[in-house]
Amino acid sequence: MKTLLITHPDCLKHARPRHPERPDRLQAVIDMLEKTGLVADMKLIQAIEISHEQLELIHPSDYITHIERAEHPDAIVQIDPDTYMSPGSTRAAKLAAGAVVGATQTILRGDATKAFCAIRPPGHHAEVAEAFGFCLFNNVALGAQEALRHPDIERVAICDFDVHHCNGTVDIFKDDPRVLVCSSFQNNFYPYRYLDFSNEHIISTPLSAGTDGTQFRDQIESNWLPAIQRLKPDLLFVSAGFDAHKKDPLGELNWTEDDFRWITKLIIDLSNSYSEGRIVSTLEGGYDLEALASSAQVHIEELAQ
Ligand SMILES: [Zn+2]
Repeated sequence: MKTLLITHPDCLKHARPRHPERPDRLQAVIDMLEKTGLVADMKLIQAIEISHEQLELIHPSDYITHIERAEHPDAIVQIDPDTYMSPGSTRAAKLAAGAVVGATQTILRGDATKAFCAIRPPGHHAEVAEAFGFCLFNNVALGAQEALRHPDIERVAICDFDVHHCNGTVDIFKDDPRVLVCSSFQNNFYPYRYLDFSNEHIISTPLSAGTDGTQFRDQIESNWLPAIQRLKPDLLFVSAGFDAHKKDPLGELNWTEDDFRWITKLIIDLSNSYSEGRIVSTLEGGYDLEALASSAQVHIEELAQ
């Protein structure tokens, strides 16, 4: 079965001039998929908007309404110092979350094994009731919660290798041992929330600025592998941020495309052992357009094999 590629052109409409989380990011990934021919190897699906009811799997109704009402038809609105809404942002955010939920449903129907959601805005900083760090709704968490409604899914794991800690995903699942959250991140660094938090199902892998791929691989093998082997997740999610790349202007880690290929292969090996090869991966950060495209390329190449 072909790997799903879920995206939507309206994810480009969320836009604020001179902001690093910009439409060009997603366009760079789409252009790469077309230029390399990868798109032809995948099953391309247009995302559909998540419903209010589906958003309520994670976010309180009054928070969802707050986001919907914050959008202004002809102005940029700041939700927090880093997070904006422009005309079209609500639709983009609902399409981004809808892509991950839709990918999860398609895989659980047996119509695909793996999916990559080429979407924005990203989601992993969005907490239960707070937009944060460019994120409005927590896309990967909504997918994980959707999966847990399925009778065959008892446990899931979320692997997050974005340079930033997934404070939102941890906030949402910190008391739910059915969800293993494995996060590697630069420390001590934005978002400065939940950085020290860990328990049996929240696995934090803090990395000092300048950490290269060799140290990163050692840390992942010693931290993430035993936790995933212990949980035996029925489905694996990936918060695929590519801002740990050495060229990224926001992060200060020194990973290369080979490191993103290595961790993708590791996650695929784990999915073959425990989750019948099933993986839902979604785009998070990555702010150097060339490094984002080349890193997403190796990630998607592996998923699409
Ligand atoms: Zn990031």
